[in-house]
Order: sequence, then structure tokens, then C-alpha cells
Amino acid sequence: MRLSRYFLPVLKEDPKEAQIVSHRLMLRAGMIKQQSAGIYSWLPLGYKVLNRIQQIVHEEQQRAGHIPLLMPTLQSADLWRESGRYDAYGDEMLRLQDRHKRDMLYGPTNEEMVTDIFRSYVSSYKSLPLTLYHIQWKFRDEMRPRFGVMRGREFLMKDGYNFDLTKEDALHAYNRHLVSYLRTYERMGLQAIPMRADGGPIGGDYTHEFLVLADTGESEVFYDSQITDLKFGDRQIDYDDVAQGQAILEEFTSRYARTDETHDEALFAQVPEERRRTARGIEVGQIFYFGTKYSEAMGATVVTETGERVPVHMGSHGIGVSRLLGAIIEASHDDKGIIWPEGVTPFHVGIVNLKQGDGSTDSACEALYRELKAAGLDPLYDDRDERAGAKFATMDLIGLPWRITVGPRGLAENKVELTSRRTGESEAISPQEAIERLKTIYQPVFAAAYH
Ligand code: ATP
Ligand code: MG
Repeated sequence: MRLSRYFLPVLKEDPKEAQIVSHRLMLRAGMIKQQSAGIYSWLPLGYKVLNRIQQIVHEEQQRAGHIPLLMPTLQSADLWRESGRYDAYGDEMLRLQDRHKRDMLYGPTNEEMVTDIFRSYVSSYKSLPLTLYHIQWKFRDEMRPRFGVMRGREFLMKDGYNFDLTKEDALHAYNRHLVSYLRTYERMGLQAIPMRADGGPIGGDYTHEFLVLADTGESEVFYDSQITDLKFGDRQIDYDDVAQGQAILEEFTSRYARTDETHDEALFAQVPEERRRTARGIEVGQIFYFGTKYSEAMGATVVTETGERVPVHMGSHGIGVSRLLGAIIEASHDDKGIIWPEGVTPFHVGIVNLKQGDGSTDSACEALYRELKAAGLDPLYDDRDERAGAKFATMDLIGLPWRITVGPRGLAENKVELTSRRTGESEAISPQEAIERLKTIYQPVFAAAYH
């Protein structure tokens, strides 16, 4: 993309309404525009990152064997009356009526609808296990929408639902989600720690929230510092392997890590004092096994091998896709702007032309731009007629992890500068070397993809 032809409405001033850094930077970098409280337009740069995040979520769900579909945002109230949640959900649910005076709602989640799909088509144990998921907009009429996309009213969520014959099978699905989530967050450059969560009105021990540590997080968290040493890394996973799933669950959840909702002082006191940490965290996902709550209420049953009809065991598993943008920025920025991890950056590299209009500088930039694209990379070329300082400030603000600076002085020696946004370190190398270097840098990002 050429910046002169892009739509990147950056703001010079700090927007007053933004209380936390990710919200401020998303507004300043021209990523989002608020349309009403907690409801945003995704401007091109924000939309691009949102799509990169969605892509990773899709790939990791499908790698785990989960099947994508798409359910609507508007749902019929009758479905929710069947589960009893229409009345229970309260003011967070946006309710409306169509022209025939039928009660509708904008979905805050999809347990009822996916259970309805399941019961309409599945009746045999042979169709199990099954996990269906989608990435769809949700609406929750939050009392205090704030912090930009972190607590919106309209927000994008990945929500997946497993259907299994037995509790045992459903717990394997739970572990499978935990494993796929660990890999998902790491690909985004995030450490998200599974913490024991509160089962809420449904209860049960089988729920974990994934938290990214950040001072601006809304949850207070308590953990054993050893947990932050755990890396998922590049493991070979067989998502059907029950023992492997259980081992990873134990590895990542055996140390103390809880939010204030489930915190237990006595248990925490057993962690050696020098490893006890109290911090704040952002919830970026949650997994939940809830058994037969919906399948019993809504008649989602299968016939077993012995001819018995039984309700299926279910769980639901969510990732806060739009919230993740805020969480990543909270975890990765400095006073000049955002620092995108390579896995989610909107553009892989920025090209800064120091002397726009100078024949040889322009053509060197054009050649770089062309060759980077030919190498499968996605460059943003700042070809505007602007001062170098302004160009650098824009690149720093929007946070591309790498920048190539091209000027007549360097070119005289066949050199450009390759600069890391994270460390600020620069190297003078030939344009060809810069391309090779970037190919090497992004190789692991491309290799992590799942087709
Ligand atoms: P919270 O406790 O933050 O209100 P929740 O536990 O009610 O969230 P879930 O139903 O578990 O949310 O939804 C799955 C994920 O969707 C959450 O882990 C979170 O990342 C994201 N999410 C929930 N509410 C919002 C919101 N209002 N804005 C943006 N993302 C949200
Ligand atoms: Mg939650």
C-alpha cells in the first residue's frame, strides 16, 4: 500500500475521551472511530489488524479440528425462552421487535442457537465429537462501555461449542480448546495465562479465563511467578490425543493463578513468598464445560450404541477478538506509539522515502516496494511529500515492527537503513540484504500458518 493513496486519519492531539493507552493509540493511529457509546467503526488500519487476528483464530480452531459456520446476530426470543435465559439475562440484552411484533434480540452469545442447530440435524452418537464455532459480532448493553474496544457494547467474539457423548469426551474438548488458545495467543505475541475462573450461576470446576497481564486490566489477579516462564512454543500436537491434552492442561494450570473472583488466600499462602505476585489482567478468553444444561432444556439428545437416548455434554469457549487489539497494544507500546508483534502487524514493514521527488531515491523505493511484495510481504510505502520527522512519527505511532529508510546519501553507497521499532536499532545494509533479512524475520510467522 502507498500511504498517499491509503486512508489513515492519524490524530496529532491526544483525544480527551481516552483513559488508557490502547484506546488513545487506536484513536490516534486512525484505527477506530466511535459511532456511539461502545460502538465503533473499524477504519482501514484497525480493520486490517482485526482481520489478522481473526485469521489466526480461524487457523488455530481449524487446526484443532473445530468447524467454522456463521450464525446471525439477530435471534428469536423464543429460543432463549426455551433455555430460561430470556428473562434471566437482564439489561445487558438488547431486545427489539420486528414489524410483526415478534420479540427479537441482538445475540450476546450463541449457546441456544447452536444447540438448536445441533438438535435439528444430529441424532446419533456417531456424529460426535463435534465442535462448531463462529466469529461474529455480539451486543451486550454494558453498563459502562469504556476503554475503547476493550469493553465495547458491540464487539467481535469467537465462540465455539463442543458436543460430546460423555463428560469425559467433553473434558477432552475442554483441553483441546485450552491448547488451541495457548497457541493462538502466542502467535499474536501475547502471553495469556489460564486462570481458574468462577463458574457463575452454572457452577462447576471446569472453567478457565485467559488473562494478559497489564496495569490497566480490569481484573485483579494473583499468581505464582513460575507460571510466566511457561511457553507453549512450537509443539507437535495431536489434537485427538487425550493424554497429551490432559498433560498440557496440568502443565499450564497446576500453579496458582486466579482472579479476584476465585482467589483463595489460604492456597495462595502456600506459594513461596518470593514467587507470589499480585497484578492486573485483561480477560481475552474463557473456556467452560457446562454439561447438559442446554441440551436437557432444549432437547439436544443422541441415541447411543446401546439404543439409549441421552442429552449431549457441552461447553462453550470464547475469545475476545476485538478486545485483543487493545490487549496487544497495552502489552506492547512505548511513548511514541504502538509496537505490533510480527504475527499481527497490519503491514510487515514501512518504507520511508527521505527525499520524495528525487529520481533515484524514488526509484529505489519503488523497486523495494515491488520486490517486498513479490517476496510475499506486505509493505506500507510512505510516498507522501512530507518531512522525514513527520514520516518517522507516523511510522512510530502506527507501530510497524520494521522500517526501511531510503535516502540519497545512503543510496550513494547502495545502503538503506533497516530499523527495529522495538529496539530502535538501525543497520545500514543493501536493499537486497534488507529484503532477505525481512524474509528471514517473517519466516516463522508464515510457517506458523495453518492451511
Ligand atoms: P467480562 O467479564 O470482561 O465482562 P465475560 O466473562 O462476560 O467478560 P465471556 O462471555 O466470557 O465474557 O466472553 C468471551 C470473551 O469475549 C471474553 O473473554 C472477553 O475477551 C470478550 N468480551 C466480553 N465482553 C466484552 C466486551 N464488552 N467488549 C469486548 N470484549 C468482550
Ligand atoms: Mg468470561
